[in-house]
Amino acid sequence: MRRIRKEFQGRPTPISHLERLSDKIGTGVQIYVKREDLNHTGAHKLNHCMGEALLAKYMGKKKVIAETGAGQHGVALATAAAYFGLECDIYMGAVDIKKQAPNVARMKILGANVIEVTDGLQTLKEAVDAAFKAYAAEYNDAIYCIGSVLGPHPFPMMVRDFQSVVGIEAREQFIEMTGELPDAIVACVGGGSNAIGLFSGFLNDPVDIYGVEPLGRGTALGDHAASLKYGTEGIMHGFNSIMLKDENGEPAPVYSVASGLDYPSSGPEHAFLHDLGRVKYDVVDDNETIDAFFELSRMEGIIPAIESSHAVAYAMKLAKSMKKGSILVNLSGRGDKDMDYIIEKYGIR
Ligand SMILES: *Cc1c(COP(=O)(O)O)cnc(C)c1O
Repeated sequence: MRRIRKEFQGRPTPISHLERLSDKIGTGVQIYVKREDLNHTGAHKLNHCMGEALLAKYMGKKKVIAETGAGQHGVALATAAAYFGLECDIYMGAVDIKKQAPNVARMKILGANVIEVTDGLQTLKEAVDAAFKAYAAEYNDAIYCIGSVLGPHPFPMMVRDFQSVVGIEAREQFIEMTGELPDAIVACVGGGSNAIGLFSGFLNDPVDIYGVEPLGRGTALGDHAASLKYGTEGIMHGFNSIMLKDENGEPAPVYSVASGLDYPSSGPEHAFLHDLGRVKYDVVDDNETIDAFFELSRMEGIIPAIESSHAVAYAMKLAKSMKKGSILVNLSGRGDKDMDYIIEKYGIR
């Protein structure tokens, strides 16, 4: 795994000091970013997909199975499957297939089978059901590869361990760069994999930890996906956590400008850290996120993913409220995938 990380994935990814942005904020607080956008395929997801596919190979499986919503997990897994010479079946709702044409093309070019799911609303939930059903039928030859720190044990633990490379690297690099630990670390939380990856390196340190959830259009149910902030305990998709539920106790409809964050729950370990009070889960809305997207692009020459822009927006607010110190942000992915959408919906700010 270590050799693959180095020779194929391009790890370790660097930490960049955002000097111009920090100066502009002007409180003296220094912001740094862990550059998961420079990971092969442009986001942190390959960290767990390479681990999952290596495990499949080790177990003698011939195929990996997964669902995908926006297509990011599908592309990362298709990449890992190509690397290891495994078959790859990606289940995807018909509506998502239409919306995410570039990612569908990527998966197909990488040799994956993209299987269209036409049940129900034809989006992520139906794709999850179809992938589970396929796995139940093919478990002898195939393994299911989940896309975040979700699902039944051991998936949340496995994905955390594969993502922990981010926190292990970041802690060492940050100390080497500055001679000390950061005062605060920040990551966006959808399912929670990039966040737990960073957090796991710092849980035993005197460091304030912030998980940032999408407030979307506002606090009304259906307008956001801030499950840890506004949700309650429940069970879905094989795990117990904190989640957003409708009046019947079913997973509620959620919304975020970032398609990678619109999930009605987060991994069980985040619920645990939330209840312990070790991590503070807070929110930023769509507008603050889009502002941060442009601010980081203009001030630093880094175009962030909309998901990651949530963490950047929060770090900018935090830097204004702190008098001194340093903040390390997990820049979970690059924003190439989001540019057309942002220009169409928001124009150039
Ligand atoms: C998928 C994705 C996320 C959200 O997933 P987590 O499991 O919460 O990390 C965040 N950032 C990027 C760039 C993504 O592609």
